[in-house]
Amino acid sequence: MSDTTPPLEDEPTLVVPPHVADRAKELRDWLNYHSYRYYALDAPEVSDAEWDRLFHELLELETQYPDFATADSPTQRVGAAPADFLPSYTHRQPMLSLGNAFKEEDLIAFDQRIKRMLGMDLNDPIEYVAELKIDGLAVSLTYEEGRFTIGATRGDGTTGEQVTNNLRTVRSLPLSLQPGDSPIPRLMEVRGEVFLTHAEFERVNAGREQDGLPLFANPRNAAAGGLRQLDPKLTAKRRLNIFCYELGYVENGHLQTHWETLQALKSWGFRVNPHARPCANIQEVLEIVREWEEKRSGLDYEMDGIVVKVNNLALRSELGQVARSPRWAVAYKYQPPQAATRIEGIVVQVGRTGALTPVAVMQPVPLGGVVVRRATLHNQDEIDRLDVRVGDTVVIQRAGEVIPEVVEVLKEQRPSDTVPFTMPEHCPVCGGGVERPEGEVVTRCVNVACPAQLKERIRHFASRGAMDIEGMGPALIDQLVDKEFVRDPADLYSLTEEQLVPLERMAKKSAENVVNALQASKDRPLDRLIFGLGIRHVGEHVATLLANRFCSMDTLANASEEAIAAVPGVGPTIAKSAYAFFQEPHNRETLEKLRQAGVKMESDGAAGIPVTDSQLSGKCFVFTGALERITRQDAERLAVQHGGRASSSVSKATDFVVAGEKAGSKLAKAQQLGIPVISEAEFMEMAGLS
Ligand code: NAD
Repeated sequence: MSDTTPPLEDEPTLVVPPHVADRAKELRDWLNYHSYRYYALDAPEVSDAEWDRLFHELLELETQYPDFATADSPTQRVGAAPADFLPSYTHRQPMLSLGNAFKEEDLIAFDQRIKRMLGMDLNDPIEYVAELKIDGLAVSLTYEEGRFTIGATRGDGTTGEQVTNNLRTVRSLPLSLQPGDSPIPRLMEVRGEVFLTHAEFERVNAGREQDGLPLFANPRNAAAGGLRQLDPKLTAKRRLNIFCYELGYVENGHLQTHWETLQALKSWGFRVNPHARPCANIQEVLEIVREWEEKRSGLDYEMDGIVVKVNNLALRSELGQVARSPRWAVAYKYQPPQAATRIEGIVVQVGRTGALTPVAVMQPVPLGGVVVRRATLHNQDEIDRLDVRVGDTVVIQRAGEVIPEVVEVLKEQRPSDTVPFTMPEHCPVCGGGVERPEGEVVTRCVNVACPAQLKERIRHFASRGAMDIEGMGPALIDQLVDKEFVRDPADLYSLTEEQLVPLERMAKKSAENVVNALQASKDRPLDRLIFGLGIRHVGEHVATLLANRFCSMDTLANASEEAIAAVPGVGPTIAKSAYAFFQEPHNRETLEKLRQAGVKMESDGAAGIPVTDSQLSGKCFVFTGALERITRQDAERLAVQHGGRASSSVSKATDFVVAGEKAGSKLAKAQQLGIPVISEAEFMEMAGLS
């Protein structure tokens, strides 16, 4: 595989055969989908190595058929558009990606190409700086007069997301600079990588496991998730770190080389990775690449390669850039650690949303510092692609992922009696039907009462980020579901001490504690309850957005799909899933049971973030008659939440009277005073919730 910088020479134009066009479209769609999951959702479904493999397949097709490359191809773009729930920021100088190298020959080719471009003798040396490629999230930090003023993610390279306050919580980021080796520019963009140490990553995931939350696939996603959200307190909890490695825009820049830049950054108080090295030529770079191949597993943070940069800044300007990466730098990427082992069985796990995941159970094998026993096979498509079978010897790899994956089947070692694996036609836990919706890769158990799903749902409902029910651990949940004491999360609230005491590992005191914990959980804020329901795609952050916007479970449950999608930060996929959840009669029943049990179904009013762009803002409302979609209390709460007021009597200060069925004297008074009378539907429309 060669590096990703397209050739400089003109290529002859070839007619694109239809099968190539189809394959390119398939690759572009696949890469776009996975880029979205990786960059926008911080929740990748495939490994980086797999993404890189298909990216290079597309790149090779486009290099072979240059006329065929489109401006919107993933090979031409950096990252993904900034998320709309964060303010955007246009970088003064674009933040680019890097071309990749996978073999030493690729680095030599990179060196030669540069020399050719600069008109140099191929035997003359070029100076480089070799740096560790930290696997985190690129950020740009603007400093004005030595003070940190704006911090932004890379986004699509041109526009990123503003996360200034979140970045202020990163301890190793200087808020004001110290005088250093050279004068501090009045205005500059400093580029760096925000990351999590291994220890911190494990701490974060251990907490999530305890809370029944999905684990982060790797430290990069955990770091990105911590930074790309609205609450700096949450960022601070994740103890992020930063290494700075580059300058973007600089007002009146005076530095001549990249090495000087790194020294200057260090002297101004930035954390610069101590392993960066100046290299007199590409041979010295290769030595560093070899050295770190061995040493990298000893680091306490994830690094996936060596970034090689031309040292002389004037030469860099001369070299310029191609679509998504500079010509003066390349990222050499190490192969993730791999090992061979035998598959002893394939088990199918059922998750909270009913997703069936095939998992290979293997002969234990040491890999990258841990002993590995299981590897994910993702889904049926992946199993078919690899043609992996029980009894096969396979190559597995761990690329920072929590669960390793199978990358190759060693077919020559396959025993003669193996058979292809197919996903079960029935749920392995409840025996109920499974389905794989058109266009999706995931097979799901469709039985909402499936014990495996139910256990996972209860675990999630009781978890710390949701209803936080102390003592409701996996062992107790297993028994409650198996004994059919609990058929949905609402049943937890009818548990009695008498039922609990005879259970395994329970006694009078612990049973009493659980009942008390259940009682205490009834008062949790609305966003925790929404999160606890385990609606697909509704995580903690989205739950808060929904609670703030709708203020009560009823209003949310009765909202249209469009109204949910209109909440800033909530996209169409989430809206579709939330709307479908509330249309399900079984879920409605659960909500009703929760209400009957005395679980709080409204927000505390003050807790919500006020909606500032609403037509209700500054207006005084009086509600009269019977409202249909929401209760009068909820309507009043909505008015307040949206910056308006609610009053019980009509006066000249009233802006609108909202009249339902059988409205009486208040309606008459409004008509008498000439105050506009609107329907419930009109009120909901003003609130943006129709
Ligand atoms: P990249 O990771 O190949 O290289 C560029 C990035 O390296 C920079 O933006 C910066 O963040 C980082 N970096 C770390 N140390 C650096 C240093 N010392 N100097 C300069 N930069 C440094 O490119 P990318 O555009 O960030 O991401 C593309 C990669 O992301 C792919 O190669 C793939 O591995 C991964 N990806 C994975 C998925 C997935 O679904 N798993 C999807 C999309 C992308």
